Amino acid sequence: MIIAGIDLGSTAIKLALVADGQLLWHKAAPTAPGQEKIADNLLTEGLAAVGRSGETVVRAVTGYGKHLLVGADRVIDELTANRLGVCKASDGRARSLINIGGQDVKVIRLSAKGQMTGFKMNDKCAAGCGRFFEVAARILDTEVGSFATLAANAAEAARINSTCAVFAESEIVSLMAQGVVKENIIAGLHQSVARRIAGLCAGGALEDDIYLDGGAAQNPGLVHALEDELCRDLHVLPLPQFTVAYGAAISAAMADSAAAKNSS
Ligand code: ADP
Repeated sequence: MIIAGIDLGSTAIKLALVADGQLLWHKAAPTAPGQEKIADNLLTEGLAAVGRSGETVVRAVTGYGKHLLVGADRVIDELTANRLGVCKASDGRARSLINIGGQDVKVIRLSAKGQMTGFKMNDKCAAGCGRFFEVAARILDTEVGSFATLAANAAEAARINSTCAVFAESEIVSLMAQGVVKENIIAGLHQSVARRIAGLCAGGALEDDIYLDGGAAQNPGLVHALEDELCRDLHVLPLPQFTVAYGAAISAAMADSAAAKNSS
């Protein structure tokens, strides 16, 4: 059986094709109107890529837009999908996870058996997540994919004080006007976002081993800043943007196997 884990996120739509618990194929596309069509196109492309076009597929949908996919076989809540995806991808080692997505940050603490024992989420302000970096990249005329390299070349991190994305934007413009180079501004942005995320992790929200996922976890500059802020080593899974889609597929597989056991 082939399962398509579909994560309809606020910023990106992710699809993971899974069979026998193994990830066969994955791809992301920007979230835009017509999410169902975008997901269908990804599915068609993926099935062709793995040579399984025409096979019956179980569609397990999760994420912010999960109720938009008409006719989904299973609708999985994001926390369950995230927890299962990270547990499976980390071979059960994860005891905490920090998901840094486009528009929110989630901190989840896990028991040794992978059950959720704690959960925190940011206050819906974009200042701590991927969208904030995208806005900053536009102002600085660069790409988020270049942030880590640019920050590594910073002589010193600029101090970014604003905790609100809108005010941070004007702070960036003002730093540029003062002649502060983009390398230093980006290093400062990493520190500022890391401080916000670390604030969310305070008060025992984390337990070792800590895994990072979500699209913004692909920025090593942010990961290093967060390690410095938390004084902890962090693990980034190989495909951090796809753990939630993968976990949705794992959840559907578990539900199908439980249903099969009950009927036998
Ligand atoms: P959501 O589920 O909320 O849509 P994702 O987990 O898909 O969020 O993450 C989307 C975010 O990841 C975007 O804000 C995007 O800028 C960021 N992102 C994607 N690729 C990279 C990358 N290579 N480096 C840094 N950030 C990235």
